Amino acid sequence: MNYKQLLKKVISFIEFVDTEYGTRDPEKIAAMENIFRLVWKLPRCIQGFSFIHDGDKYIVINEKLSEKGRQFALLHELYHLLNSHTNEYNRLLFMTNAFVKTTKTEIEADYFAFICMNYEDFENINPLTIEHEVAIFKRRYLKI
Ligand SMILES: [Zn+2]
Repeated sequence: MNYKQLLKKVISFIEFVDTEYGTRDPEKIAAMENIFRLVWKLPRCIQGFSFIHDGDKYIVINEKLSEKGRQFALLHELYHLLNSHTNEYNRLLFMTNAFVKTTKTEIEADYFAFICMNYEDFENINPLTIEHEVAIFKRRYLKI
């Protein structure tokens, strides 16, 4: 996995978000995109998930999460939904499954959420420590 490349990709997407939406507040972005946000009782192993049904986009968040945890899960799911804009037949189910590092896309979604919440200025991001910072953040705010 090339983390530098991955980080670059995520940062350029955040720059797009900053320009396009003028905010990193996931509630506001979701509202602009007409994405339905639901807070449900879910098993502890699932922090959130998202899906597209009949052209409508949904993000479901675990009610047990703290405010910061919810914000992270919303941003994580937004990353998936905003990056699959063009595929109207997308029936994929995305999940914020906090402690299993699976695919490249999942790592990107985590980095996106973390950087949105913690870095105003990209120049302060240290590519050597970011992975560790994300892990600490997730242990702190996504463990339920
Ligand atoms: Zn995900």
